[in-house]
Amino acid sequence: SRIPESPESEAEIAFEGALRPANLAEFVGQAKVRLQLELLLKAAAMQSRTPDHILLAGPPGLGKTTLALIVAEETGQPIRLTSGPALQHAGDLAAVLSSLVPGELLFIDEIHRMARTAEEMLYLAMEDFRIDIMVGKGAGATSVPLELAPFTVIGATTRAGLLPNPLRDRFGFTAHLEFYEDGELERVLARAARLLDLRVDDAALAEIATRSRGTPRIANRLLRRVRDYALVHETDADEQAVQHALLVYDVDALGLDRLDRAVLQALIDRFAGGPVGVRSLAVSVGEEAETVESVVEPFLVRTGLVTRTQRGRVATQQAYAHLGRALPGGAVP
Ligand code: ATP
Repeated sequence: SRIPESPESEAEIAFEGALRPANLAEFVGQAKVRLQLELLLKAAAMQSRTPDHILLAGPPGLGKTTLALIVAEETGQPIRLTSGPALQHAGDLAAVLSSLVPGELLFIDEIHRMARTAEEMLYLAMEDFRIDIMVGKGAGATSVPLELAPFTVIGATTRAGLLPNPLRDRFGFTAHLEFYEDGELERVLARAARLLDLRVDDAALAEIATRSRGTPRIANRLLRRVRDYALVHETDADEQAVQHALLVYDVDALGLDRLDRAVLQALIDRFAGGPVGVRSLAVSVGEEAETVESVVEPFLVRTGLVTRTQRGRVATQQAYAHLGRALPGGAVP
């Protein structure tokens, strides 16, 4: 999944890990999803059974991995982490499934990117806790059934719509994660600053929050960039430091990053504000359609810069104003 700046470095990963809330009570925002999960887990515990399979859907960085780890913490069950791209053959999945212990949680990140054959094996496994293993080749091949320990799949996807129906139907509950409100991000940031022993004033936290694309992972990362800035320039981490630091990292006043702006610019400059299909937009900025559709577009829509219509995406007046472009027909927004 695409996020501004690569999270690859060890330090970034350690940083994210250190800030992960450990239980539902510490998890900020997503009140509805928290309530839904609480009910689901409690009912399963009361009946001493494994919870239904859970699908977590939403743009990157909203806390899907965090929630999966919290489910493990709350249920006291071990959790195995894998991802769709790592399951490119049915055999990869069979190896994982056959080694699960009773009650274990299986987290599959980017579950929409699993191979077809693995997907089909997963349907059966989720439904009946059983898989069929093919033994031998050609005419002599036979399938041998294998009983599995009861387990719970926690799938994560940037868009539930990308999953084939039969797979989606096997999940007893789909949590739709929403972008966070600024106030919620301020709480995420205040907590992170406390854990990292950073002194950042409230105005600075609020400024970082409004520029974080509604996304906790980005909020935490921007906080780190602001800390760097304050350190190097020997200043306080105040509102001004936030403005200067975020200018360096191409994050604008609404939190749009380079790709967000590129998409918006293409929509206005090359497609006369739309309507245009999301695929054409993706091609014109040289990005995968899936990324534009599941990462960029939801944010631009939620910010009120783009609307979805039957015939395609349309730039709003606000979008023209934000980029400082004259409206079609010459009017100044
Ligand atoms: P991806 O889909 O890319 O895997 P994700 O949705 O799984 O992303 P996480 O890795 O769970 O995102 O979260 C990213 C970071 O944001 C975590 O390190 C965590 O510290 C922080 N975070 C996410 N959600 C919350 C939250 N609700 N409260 C506090 N911190 C959060």
